[in-house]
Amino acid sequence: MFWRFFSLALCQLVPLVLVWSFADFKDASVPLLLAALVGAYLWLALDAVRGLHLLRWLRAGDMQQPSPGRGLWAEVADRVRRVVRTHERALAEGERRLQEFLAAIQASPNGVVLLDADCRIEWFNQTASSHFGLDAQRDMLQHFGNLVRDPVFAAYYAAKNFDREVLMAGRDHGGGVQVMLSVHLHVYGEGRSLLLSRDVTAVEQAEAMRRDFVANVSHEIRTPLTVLAGFVETLQTLPLPEDQRSRYLALMAQQAQRMQTLVSDLLTLSRLEGSPPPPADDWVSVALLMAQCEQDAHDLSMVLWGTAQSLHFQFDPGLEIAGSTVELHSAMSNLIGNAIRYSPVDKPIDVRFVTTAAGGLMFSVVDKGQGIAAEHIPRLTERFYRVDRSRSRETGGTGLGLAIVKHVAQRHGAALSIDSTPGKGSRFSIAFPAQRVRCREPILIDA
Ligand code: ADP
Repeated sequence: MFWRFFSLALCQLVPLVLVWSFADFKDASVPLLLAALVGAYLWLALDAVRGLHLLRWLRAGDMQQPSPGRGLWAEVADRVRRVVRTHERALAEGERRLQEFLAAIQASPNGVVLLDADCRIEWFNQTASSHFGLDAQRDMLQHFGNLVRDPVFAAYYAAKNFDREVLMAGRDHGGGVQVMLSVHLHVYGEGRSLLLSRDVTAVEQAEAMRRDFVANVSHEIRTPLTVLAGFVETLQTLPLPEDQRSRYLALMAQQAQRMQTLVSDLLTLSRLEGSPPPPADDWVSVALLMAQCEQDAHDLSMVLWGTAQSLHFQFDPGLEIAGSTVELHSAMSNLIGNAIRYSPVDKPIDVRFVTTAAGGLMFSVVDKGQGIAAEHIPRLTERFYRVDRSRSRETGGTGLGLAIVKHVAQRHGAALSIDSTPGKGSRFSIAFPAQRVRCREPILIDA
């Protein structure tokens, strides 16, 4: 401010001094006044030029350029620059926060769609894009209901009751599985809404499997129970001759056995699902396992056919597998049992252990039985899936055997494979990895 007054005074003083020193007036007051006025106008003109420079600098909007002028104008420029910088910093901070927020929503495993008061899309994340098949370029500001033409969503939106979520079909991504979405709208602001979508395909599948499982178990138990209840009623109400009575009791024992086998298989499955993985350093002798399996096969064959079916075992007696004896025995015995149950009694069955090129071990059961059509093979390990329902029941099957085998194999890092030709026979194999297999040299005892 001092500089301003000083420059004004200087601008007036210079013409005054000039007029005073060079002019010779009788009455000097008017020329001096004029000189002072000229000086003041000169100062004003200079000041306006500085103001114009500042205005041009402001209009250019480039705060990096040095500000023009000095004194008051420089101060004004400096203040403006500071205000603009503070404002720019606040804007940049706001933008950074917004980008971080959007990145967080992008990373969300749930779909997020922002809708305006007219249900038009304002923003959506990548997950929502794949859930509903939305395109960021094409679909912005489009009405959500026009793009997602699902009657369930249309009814949900029309009802305006957003306390609950709805289940609707999502965009099919191929792979043959219908994607199921749980969709929930949350209203905020002035009629805007936030639409959240969650992929619940796996949950829905698990729930459907649970329902099927309960229905299957109930059905499997109800059949022998009904038969048992019928026999009990007959025995209670009718005075039967001794031979018929004992025949009925034998049939009742058979049904009770069937239920027992079913419950035992169910317990085995639930143990396999709930227990820790089998040990990797407990070595089970293949010879011991095969001796148990041979005994089981003999017993089963005698019960079913009244004679021992011929079985050929081929393995190195020094072989050992790391894992659980009970589980391995259950899996191998199941496969050998199936071969007996699904092939004629006069056809021999081969049970082999062959070492693989990778150092692993392949256990195979090969029969010359009825075989299985190709379309059934991928479903054989599903619980209660049966190709030949009546044969399975007649021979005491529960429909859980191969599910148990698959579980045991997986728990031992092994894989179950099935090859079969209808009318010719089947081969069921379990391939154990090298780290679960070792070959102990037979111990020679010196006599
Ligand atoms: P099940 O107790 O009915 O035998 P599994 O799970 O062991 O149940 O087998 C499922 C189905 O696979 C059986 O019902 C049967 O139809 C078929 N199956 C299993 N093993 C054989 C086999 N060796 N030969 C022909 N069919 C088989």
